[in-house]
Amino acid sequence: MHIKKLLLFLILLIFITSVNAQSKKRDEIDDKYKWDLSHLYPTVNDWETDYEKVSKFVGSIDDYRGKLGENAETFYEAMDLYFSLLKDYYKLVVYSNRLSDEDLGIAQFQELRQMSSSLGTKISEATSFIDPEILTIDQTKIDQFFEEKPELKDFKFYVEDIQRLKPHTLSDAEEKILASAGMLTDVTSNVYNIFNNAERINPTITLSTGEEVEVNAAGYYIHRASEAREDRKKIFEAMFSNYGNYENTLGANLAGKVKGDYFFAKNRKYNSSLEASLNANNIPVSVYHNLIEQVNKNLPTLHRALELKRKMLEVDTLHYYDLYTPIVQKVNMNFTVDEAQELLLDVLKPLGDEYVSTVNNSFKERWIDYYPSDGKRSGAYSSGAAYDEHPYILMNYTDDYESVSTLAHELGHTMHSYFSNKNQPFVNSGYATYVAEIASTLNENLLNNYMIEKVDTDKERLYLLGSYLELLRQTIFRQVSFAEFELAIHEKIENGEPLTGEKMSEIYADIVKKYYGHEKGVCVVDDYIKYEWSYIPHFLNYTYYVYQYSTSLIYATAFAEKIINEGQPAVDKYYHILKGGGSDYPINLIAKAGLDPLSNEAFNLTMDKMNRVIDQMEKIISKK
Ligand SMILES: [Zn+2]
Repeated sequence: MHIKKLLLFLILLIFITSVNAQSKKRDEIDDKYKWDLSHLYPTVNDWETDYEKVSKFVGSIDDYRGKLGENAETFYEAMDLYFSLLKDYYKLVVYSNRLSDEDLGIAQFQELRQMSSSLGTKISEATSFIDPEILTIDQTKIDQFFEEKPELKDFKFYVEDIQRLKPHTLSDAEEKILASAGMLTDVTSNVYNIFNNAERINPTITLSTGEEVEVNAAGYYIHRASEAREDRKKIFEAMFSNYGNYENTLGANLAGKVKGDYFFAKNRKYNSSLEASLNANNIPVSVYHNLIEQVNKNLPTLHRALELKRKMLEVDTLHYYDLYTPIVQKVNMNFTVDEAQELLLDVLKPLGDEYVSTVNNSFKERWIDYYPSDGKRSGAYSSGAAYDEHPYILMNYTDDYESVSTLAHELGHTMHSYFSNKNQPFVNSGYATYVAEIASTLNENLLNNYMIEKVDTDKERLYLLGSYLELLRQTIFRQVSFAEFELAIHEKIENGEPLTGEKMSEIYADIVKKYYGHEKGVCVVDDYIKYEWSYIPHFLNYTYYVYQYSTSLIYATAFAEKIINEGQPAVDKYYHILKGGGSDYPINLIAKAGLDPLSNEAFNLTMDKMNRVIDQMEKIISKK
């Protein structure tokens, strides 16, 4: 776990669009629905005292520059100092950032946030020598240090993870050149984002109501889900045909990005950009290939879901432009915070007494800030970075089912942080993105399963099942189709083949047609859909990232299935993730928790589940 990853870990945020309509003033809300930050510092003054202390401390790390390889004692002192500095710093950040999120309009709190942020920069700069210096220490010497000084054992995984990068680290002069080449890497995403958000010329269409609509991101987002079929057809066609006008420009730009990825991968002695990207978490490329292979094998399940959609939309032939139209009516279910708490304590029972009692503590000890109020940050997140304390959750709870689901999700992150902090030394407490969303999504799964059993009406049941099916379709199949495209364009460049916009459209069309069963008559993929790749900003803004959305959901669904089917033994294994933090590579943690990431087990469990959801929906519909 490198410092960059550690700093990133602080901002485990998920943003959910929420409107803080009719929000209250903060002091009108009962204290029991607000988090209690005094667990961190009794007053702002205490925070300031600690801030001064930590600030003074930063410089002392410099005493160890150039000396890490001297002897075991010095190495230990440096490690100990570095990580206690980070731990103290995290606590400061958690306090200032939670406090400022209560009301973004209070200047004094924003100032504390600023102070934390500049201290963070200072720490990053002061400690930036550590990882590169560890890398230069001879392996045998490091081994000797660990033997001589048993107290070093907590830092073993951290040090090994740095040493692992040795074969991909170059001489100082070469590293300098690569670092300066980094200036060029964001050019292609800047070009794309400027084009996409500002300079693209958009056509206008006239809807069936006579309303004129500009075909921009917002117009597309609203009308692609239109109940009027001719309208959604029109906006799809206008949107992607317009992208088609820029096929060569956007293609050359994306090819530039892919070439950049390969430039760095090759110079760092990786076989491919995929290998370079996945190596950050030591994930073997076979995991990626297996994901694509397994999802392809399960396309018949997607086709079943699409056939159900066709039936429910009552159309003869399903088209790609029908996919966003909701097939189930939204049902409003209401839960007060107290009801949600009671419900979740019951929902989470399969995870065992220790889990449930900790969730109960989070309610009783006020770890959670529930209601929207004037100036409060929107969305929802869990922050588990205050190692010696407990995590905090920010919510904007609005009494609906989605709020309960969000609370279940954030409690998943919070329990993951809580158990990891309790069971791992600080240096290994932070977990990787690759496993982060398992704990959260698993809880959503349990909630969903529970509610499908419990609700009174078929209408409510159909809504829950339908939303869940849509989630599986989009997060697993759509994201993996993107993952497959990303791999295909990288392979073209890496094989020295030409890659133009036209070629990208051809590759994209082949993938989408295969996924959606175009040839089989499941869903017609109209010709202009081949330009959809140019609508997806992730291809420019990230490298091999989107696949993690699907792996998280697949693992979470599979773990939930195992826990329900096997009971306590499966729960006990699952704790390897909850308590494991960053003590091992994500793939190993998942394997210890009972799923081999290279097998088809997780996929089979998830697809069985998806098929059961379709069965249940078909049964309800056939009653009508
Ligand atoms: Zn999350």
